Amino acid sequence: MTAKQTESHQTLRLRAEEKLASGAAAPKQALSLDEANLLLHDLQVHQIELEMQNEELRRVQAELDVARARYFDLYDLAPVGYCTLSEQGLILEANLTAAALLGVARGALVKQRITRFILKEDQDIYYLQRKQLFETSAPQAYELRMLKKDGTVFWGHVAATATQDADGAPVCRVVLSDITARKQAEDELHQRETRFKEMFDDAPVGYHELDAEGRMTRVNRTELATLGYSAEEMLGRHVWEFVDEKDLSRKAVLEKLAGTLPPGRNIERTYWKKDGTRIPVLVQDRLLRDQDGTITGIRTTAQDITEHKRAEEEKAKLENQLQQSQKMESVGRLAGGVAHDFNNMLGVILGHAELAIGQVDPALPLHADLTEIRKAAIRSADLTRQLLAFARKQTVAPKVLDLNETVGGMLKMLKRLIGEDIDLKWRPEADLWPIKVDPSQIDQILANLCVNARDAISGVGKITIETGNSTFNEDDCAAHAEFIPGEYVLLAVSDDGCGMEKETQAHLFEPFFTTKALGKGTGLGLATVYGIVKQNNGFINVYSEPNQGTTFKIYLPRHEGKAGQAQTEGAARSAQRGQETVLLVEDESSILTLTSKILERQGYTVLAASTPGQAIRMAREYVGRIHLLMTDVVMPEMNGRTLAKNLLSLHPHLKRLFMSGYTADVIAHHGVLDEGVHFLQKPFSIERLAATVRETLDSE
Ligand code: ADP
Ligand code: MG
Repeated sequence: MTAKQTESHQTLRLRAEEKLASGAAAPKQALSLDEANLLLHDLQVHQIELEMQNEELRRVQAELDVARARYFDLYDLAPVGYCTLSEQGLILEANLTAAALLGVARGALVKQRITRFILKEDQDIYYLQRKQLFETSAPQAYELRMLKKDGTVFWGHVAATATQDADGAPVCRVVLSDITARKQAEDELHQRETRFKEMFDDAPVGYHELDAEGRMTRVNRTELATLGYSAEEMLGRHVWEFVDEKDLSRKAVLEKLAGTLPPGRNIERTYWKKDGTRIPVLVQDRLLRDQDGTITGIRTTAQDITEHKRAEEEKAKLENQLQQSQKMESVGRLAGGVAHDFNNMLGVILGHAELAIGQVDPALPLHADLTEIRKAAIRSADLTRQLLAFARKQTVAPKVLDLNETVGGMLKMLKRLIGEDIDLKWRPEADLWPIKVDPSQIDQILANLCVNARDAISGVGKITIETGNSTFNEDDCAAHAEFIPGEYVLLAVSDDGCGMEKETQAHLFEPFFTTKALGKGTGLGLATVYGIVKQNNGFINVYSEPNQGTTFKIYLPRHEGKAGQAQTEGAARSAQRGQETVLLVEDESSILTLTSKILERQGYTVLAASTPGQAIRMAREYVGRIHLLMTDVVMPEMNGRTLAKNLLSLHPHLKRLFMSGYTADVIAHHGVLDEGVHFLQKPFSIERLAATVRETLDSE
């Protein structure tokens, strides 16, 4: 259409419309054909346009329906619960998931209070969060325990936003999800971590981890406690600061971390403690690697083996002590055996020398020679007596003693023994327990210890004698092989002399062990002391360091009961004579002859028998009274004790005197005499023999 045409259409259309509009007022004017055609065309176009619009509307409507349905599907079936709450917490609407989470039908949910579905204990959380939400309008997220309608509890995660509803009232939109599974997993993880941490810390071994530079990244409580550090003090520091250089150097750590040196397994290291002391540990190293296999550090367990080491040393010490005492035992048996026979011979030498002296004019040189023989025999007898003491073959007559009294009585003699340059200190314990020991043995112990102390002091010095009460329990005894728990009386002798090396201490009690010059020491002093202490079921202990002096501690068992009056030696000094009849029994013929000779010279009638059988025959045949049986203890046929019993039926008033180099447990229990039994130690001097015989005859 041209512009001219368009304009004519426009004019045409206007005219036609005027004609149509004037219809009511003016008579109808007919439309020209063009005009009618034009209007019809316009109408058709309009109709088409309308239809097109309708079509669009329907399409949009359909799309809208689909979207709406999809929205509701999304909304209702979303994996989380949605709901809208009023400001007061009433549920205004909710999706299906929310209803399912709370365990109710959606219909029943609306208008319910949300707090109905929150565990009582956690409701405060909700109230607080709600207050904040409406006050600040900032979205809130929190966790709390919720309650299904059937009472099951679950952990809910709430994300809440504040908004307004269509009417402008404030509401809260909530997204709710069930996080129970996550919470449980978290709990489990937490528990596992706690358990691991506890195990890590409570483990009986020390444990630490290093990073790739050798710095401490973790360290457990045991290791901290062992070394005396706090975690802050150890973490971040290099491991070689805590380990003895020779056991683990910086270089070694770095080489291990570089993989060029293997990690240590089952090896001993020395750790430094904070206080500067050292402890031995047994370690296991393990390399730590990341996923690619690169070394990222080292993990080390370390077991404190101080106790273990100590126990091992203790064991070695005890074994050594045991060996020592076994050695002493066998040396003792040997020495005892020799001493016994030797003793008999000495008796013969001594006796004959004495008899001979009595028959020689003192002016003759022979008299002096015999006197020398006697002196030598007496000195030898002293030595054998010491050996017998060591071998615990010394016959003793124990008495209940107050040790303080016994020691007190010896002080004068001891002072003379040690000389004037040495100060003797005496420290008696006030309420000392009694002991039951032969007092002459205490004399021997003290004399030996004091002489040794004197020899250890050059020039001026001090010797201290102390007594005390001591109780040993199991623990005290654990460290000493020979100690037995119980109550003991202590006798200690200390000096500030030269002291001893360990090597000397190891052999101290062995007979003939001496460090003194030839002719100066016999090496029997301490052997004697040892034997005496053993015989009395006691212990002996030495503490000594070179140049620090020495202390000998002797423990004798406490005697239960009262201390009696220490009986002094009963033998009178002067020889006493008599006229009684003595039945003498001795299998060693030289002693038998000698003894008969001596007794006869004292005025006695002697019936000499060399066997128990002969003695019984003689006793039976003898018409007069026999006053005294004097018999050896150990004889081939029958021991002295049994013989005495047999003879008592023939001569009920028979007094008995036993003689022996040792007792061999025959007349005495472990060398200890019953009270009232008389005993003569071989070898004996004439004087001793005469005195003991007289004493026995005069006894009750
Ligand atoms: P002896 O005195 O005859 O040498 P002992 O058996 O009495 O024999 O002593 C053995 C050794 O023990 C001595 O030679 C000496 O080395 C050492 N000894 C004993 N007592 C002491 C002491 N108090 N101080 C230092 N050493 C001692
Ligand atoms: Mg000595």
